Amino acid sequence: MTLDRRSFIGVSATTAAALAMNPLRLLAQQSAPSNFTEIRKSVGTFVGQGGTIGWYLGKGGAVVIDSQFPRTAEPCLKGLKERSTSGLSMLINTHHHGDHTGGNAVFKSAVKKIVAHENVPILQKKQATEGGKEAGQVYADTTFAKTWREKLDGETVAAKYYGPAHTGGDAVIHFENANVAHTGDLVFNRIHPFIDFPGGGTILGWIDVLQDVHDDLDKDTVVIFGHGSPKQGITGTRKDVLVMRDYFQTVVQHIEKGKKKGATKEEILASTLGGFEDYTGNARMSIAVTIERTYEDLERGGVKKSPKPKG
Ligand SMILES: [Zn+2]
Repeated sequence: MTLDRRSFIGVSATTAAALAMNPLRLLAQQSAPSNFTEIRKSVGTFVGQGGTIGWYLGKGGAVVIDSQFPRTAEPCLKGLKERSTSGLSMLINTHHHGDHTGGNAVFKSAVKKIVAHENVPILQKKQATEGGKEAGQVYADTTFAKTWREKLDGETVAAKYYGPAHTGGDAVIHFENANVAHTGDLVFNRIHPFIDFPGGGTILGWIDVLQDVHDDLDKDTVVIFGHGSPKQGITGTRKDVLVMRDYFQTVVQHIEKGKKKGATKEEILASTLGGFEDYTGNARMSIAVTIERTYEDLERGGVKKSPKPKG
């Protein structure tokens, strides 16, 4: 994959909106075919197209985290119904992006509720309107501001919002008994991240959030990532959460060093930064794009607040 900044800059507003709906199609197409993998204590992952789906198969019904796209949500739902002795109980969205909520419509009639941070329906609606994709959107009906938790049969599932980061409504979902946490797209495991400022994202906020997420987990926690490189995969430990933080911090330091030396904005944006050759990316997700967005975020001083829900 090439690092082509020029094509990114040349993207029209309409195309950009369409990409925001589905920024990871290119990467997703390269991922493994649909499959279920158990991690431990009835918690596992499903890989199809888009953000990694997490699941828990409990006696009170299965819990699903994120829904990818309709095309892969269907085999996922079918597979969960085959594996669950008591149907499905709930779907949880880690954030609003189309490759995590696009399959909500498929799961809607099979679950009792859809849980997400309170900003997720707002951002999802905004994204759908801008992309002309209002039809078929299904939104979370159970929302929370900071934390949410529910005791299940033999498991407790907890969701926590840490502040603006990848979007304005990211939550980490933790199966506490199994000690497996799904970070959604707060972690792109050795992939140049998709950065979405219109969706409430901020690099500076993201750095702080990753530290806090790391501190809330322990050394035994198995962490599920929204996306992972083919080599490094979609699961890991809290150490990988810090790898993502370090990626952004290295970019911030690179920019600050350039500024100190008196380099112009153009010179800094045109500069290269080594050390991430192993990372997967594409024209819209590259070290050059991360440098550009980080420069912008530093100029505006990050994002302090997420959009407030109406009503
Ligand atoms: Zn995302």
